[in-house]
Amino acid sequence: MDELKFSAEADEPQATEGDDALRVANLQRWRLLIVDDEPDVHRATVFALNDVKILGRALEFFDAYSAKEAQDILRTESDIAVILLDVVMEREDAGLRLVKFIRQDLGLLDVRIILRTGQPGYAPEIATIHDYDINDYKSKSELTRPKLYAAVTAAVRGYEQIRALDELAFYDRLSNLPNRNRFIKLIDDRMAQAASYDCVIAILDIDDFSEVNGALGHKQGDRLLQAVVQRLKDCFGDDVVLARIGSDTFGLMGNAATIDPGFLLGLFRQPFAVLNDSMIVSATLGLVCLSDVKGTGQDVVKDANIALKCAKKNRRGSFVHYSVEMGIDIRERAHLLQNLRTAAENERLFVAYQPQVNLHSGRTVGVEALLRWRNDDGSFIAPDRFIPLAEASGLIIAIGDWVLRSSCHEVIRLQAMGFPQLRVSVNVSQVQFRHPEFLVRLSSALADTGVNPKYLELEITESVAMEDPEFILETLCAIKRMGISIAIDDFGTGYSSLSHLRQLPVDRLKIDRAFVSELNSEIAGGPIAAMVIELGRNLNMTVIAEGIENEFQAGILRDMGCHEGQGYLYARPMASEQLRDWLLGIHGPVVSVTPAVPLLWAK
Ligand code: C2E
Ligand code: MG
Ligand code: MG
Repeated sequence: MDELKFSAEADEPQATEGDDALRVANLQRWRLLIVDDEPDVHRATVFALNDVKILGRALEFFDAYSAKEAQDILRTESDIAVILLDVVMEREDAGLRLVKFIRQDLGLLDVRIILRTGQPGYAPEIATIHDYDINDYKSKSELTRPKLYAAVTAAVRGYEQIRALDELAFYDRLSNLPNRNRFIKLIDDRMAQAASYDCVIAILDIDDFSEVNGALGHKQGDRLLQAVVQRLKDCFGDDVVLARIGSDTFGLMGNAATIDPGFLLGLFRQPFAVLNDSMIVSATLGLVCLSDVKGTGQDVVKDANIALKCAKKNRRGSFVHYSVEMGIDIRERAHLLQNLRTAAENERLFVAYQPQVNLHSGRTVGVEALLRWRNDDGSFIAPDRFIPLAEASGLIIAIGDWVLRSSCHEVIRLQAMGFPQLRVSVNVSQVQFRHPEFLVRLSSALADTGVNPKYLELEITESVAMEDPEFILETLCAIKRMGISIAIDDFGTGYSSLSHLRQLPVDRLKIDRAFVSELNSEIAGGPIAAMVIELGRNLNMTVIAEGIENEFQAGILRDMGCHEGQGYLYARPMASEQLRDWLLGIHGPVVSVTPAVPLLWAK
């Protein structure tokens, strides 16, 4: 058998040009494996294809005379483009078994396979051709040069296309680095190895990269990324797997001693030379040790991202190592958010109303709308827990809109019940307030419900009111022009600038609960509450105290000149039906349910 073996190297002149030249020349050839137990077939095949060029490249041949030999070659040689495979060798189904081995065991999906058989009747089933991705099936009588050439050319073309798609699917074009998919696969491979416990994965995120892109253009942004890649490559060489897993995020995998966060972040201390610029950027790192993760490469990347998010939250330019507790916290939040979505869809959210009273006359002047989420088991989830989530996910836009509309309907209902002067206050979160369509949504809620805007109030927190003065002033003026009043919630907890506050068209200041709770017999005076009340008087604003729980507090506030109050002393937040009973109980039977103001004010 051996003397019949054809080998490309033996015939090729490049062999004399030195090993490197040969390697380069061979890399540029299509590698073709002939598997057949008949030496003549090898010889005929090589003879037919030896001098041809396919898509500009010559062929390099490998010969196997049994399925076993083929397996050995495939295990050691890479980048084989086409296999010409005999169906019947030592066994009738040796060829098909080999195909199965190639696709399933070796996981070689790119290589194109052309089956050949001498005996008619051994043609594979259609399903086999499909399942094992077999390119072609030929009888050995079709070994003529043109037919073989045509079949191999088609197979090489197929191989090239698959490789090109692989490149796209697994490599980043800008940096030529493995992309996220490939990085995950490489982590999976590493996890399959026994000694993966010492391995660390880092995700490196360039801080404020979008600003660089925005200020200097995408081209300059790309060059900066390339400069970062170059520095990382120069420092780590082959010791670390480097990948680009997002537009401005890189993945690194290596042993714990090499991936040292201090060292990595230190690489960003020197500026990057980008064309004529010298740019300084910082990076933030999330790290995870493979031994801390149960699951797949995908989970590893997810956990490293969790650590990265924590690091970003703490401080840009810092790093955080993933811990299991961190993951639980974040996964719980994700779970809670999912439940919130379902709750919103299944109408398990409702609005409760808490009365607000005039501290001097004792009359109810309004109610605050407070969102409630009731679980299936009847327990409640606190707004302080789920509202930040709704804000972070953007869900607050839809929910907030719904609270607003429910509150408008409540005003109308209250008027119909004979309480024509009660206003309803609605909390508006910062995310809602800053939404470009906020004012449009607000005016369509007014128009759709027909509420008199005089009885609607929006509460924004002090911290929201104090940022971006121009935007706030403009938006608040627009709200006022609609006839809606404005309250500043949790007053005393933010950092108010008096000159800014003076400019804002605000009707009411709400003293934060914390300053009301300190009004007790031990701490006399209640300095902050007194100050806010004084401030309100000077600015001609009404002051309302929230969280009044006892008569003592109510008395002090009244004496200080606070106008209104809200708290458990008067009533807890309650559903719309209970509010009706509460109002009727306090205010006595209603003589007439005819509203004093027209219901359809806006129409
Ligand atoms: P907030 O706007 O400052 O609402 C007042 C909070 O104080 C409410 O808590 C209310 O139940 C509670 N409270 C009232 N009186 C007393 C009292 O006497 N003692 C004590 N200990 N607490 C009292 P809640 O309902 O848990 O709401 C918490 C926060 O969630 C609200 O604070 C508000 O910032 C936010 N929130 C509630 N509903 C909405 C909503 O529909 N949209 C938005 N964006 N935020 C909302
Ligand atoms: Mg409020
Ligand atoms: Mg408040």
